[in-house]
Amino acid sequence: MKFPDRLPIPDEVLRIAKKLEDSGYETWCVGGAIRDALLGLENPSFDPLKSEFDLTTAAPPDVVRQLFKRTVPVGIEHGTVGVLDKDNRLHEVTTFRKDIRTDGRHAVVEFGVSLMDDLARRDFTINAIAYHPVQHAWRDPFKGADDLEHKLIRSVGDPNWRFQEDYLRILRALRFSARFEFKIHARTLEAAKANVQGLAQLSAERVRDEWFKGIATAARVSKLVALWMDIGAARIWLPELREQGAGSRELKALDKLPRDPVLLTAFLARDPASLLTRLRCSTKDIERARVIGQWRDKYPDPKHVPAVRRWLAETREYADDLLTLLPTSPAPGSPLPKIVAAIRAAKDPLMLKDLVVTGDDLLAAGVRPGPEVGETLERLLGEVLEDPRRNTKEYLLSRV
Ligand code: ATP
Ligand code: MG
Repeated sequence: MKFPDRLPIPDEVLRIAKKLEDSGYETWCVGGAIRDALLGLENPSFDPLKSEFDLTTAAPPDVVRQLFKRTVPVGIEHGTVGVLDKDNRLHEVTTFRKDIRTDGRHAVVEFGVSLMDDLARRDFTINAIAYHPVQHAWRDPFKGADDLEHKLIRSVGDPNWRFQEDYLRILRALRFSARFEFKIHARTLEAAKANVQGLAQLSAERVRDEWFKGIATAARVSKLVALWMDIGAARIWLPELREQGAGSRELKALDKLPRDPVLLTAFLARDPASLLTRLRCSTKDIERARVIGQWRDKYPDPKHVPAVRRWLAETREYADDLLTLLPTSPAPGSPLPKIVAAIRAAKDPLMLKDLVVTGDDLLAAGVRPGPEVGETLERLLGEVLEDPRRNTKEYLLSRV
């Protein structure tokens, strides 16, 4: 691949680079933004406040913090300082570094090294290309541009060694492979498989972020799932994933679903709540996955409207997730969404708070204080779900 003479660099990034250069510190653009620009892609920045352009510089972190008015020590122990521009966008500036000691999870880093050392510690050749935003020069010591052209994910240096330094790189290889539809180079793939057991050492948070980011960015999610399964990563971190035969109805449907990591994980897993608990997801995400898992195979009969109302009452705010998954169910063309829309348009009571009677009304009507109040309300709701016209004080109190 031939490098373009110039890459368009956002003004604010250029301003930061110039300031560092003018102060005598060599500064280069690196990483995903350069890779994506060479691929002709827009870099879909994950965090809207975060710039997609990473800068790497000879300036030590404390110098970077002195040179710019507003900085955030985003990863100061690794030499990364966030520089805020006038629009509050965060640009990551990292000091040239070299990993001197690693244990598969963390690295002890050394600053004051060269750009070449810095590129050498990067994960894949396609992520180790540097562009000088002022001089418009290129550095590609590991022939990342050739790998971009041949659509290959290849470790920088010996893949076994590089995965053992940081096992997360195995998952990153899968993510990039699925996102760009690149093959993983034979030796890199072999090393990923050979070292897969090391993934067990990673923190759940890092694994979750990789898995979620992979789902959000894969060209086809089914490919990402297949990769996690093939190399054995799923066995370690996502054992609940259901085996999907190639070309299965579920896999085909999967690629048409929205890129919502919790929804898709819940769809793919046998016991989604356990899976998301292992990945230390939020309580809310776990609950959502639990409800999806519980109801995924049990849609109500759309011809039986009270059953649909009961289903809405039980699945609550997650009913829409289940409707999203409906095309993957055995009855993909079901009229259920229409029936649900009609029930919602009619504002049929679906929850205890929709009942015209309250616990106080029941107490006044002579129900004994205690659990009986709640049980009676539930029973009344059951009657109202059957027929919403029953939601009158007169009828309900007559049933107490
Ligand atoms: P994305 O588009 O997902 O942001 P990216 O390549 O920019 O892709 P980042 O996680 O933002 O990925 O990291 C920026 C750069 O830092 C990478 O391109 C790579 O050079 C380097 N890097 C990130 N994580 C690692 C790692 N675990 N090991 C080695 N190098 C890494
Ligand atoms: Mg990035």
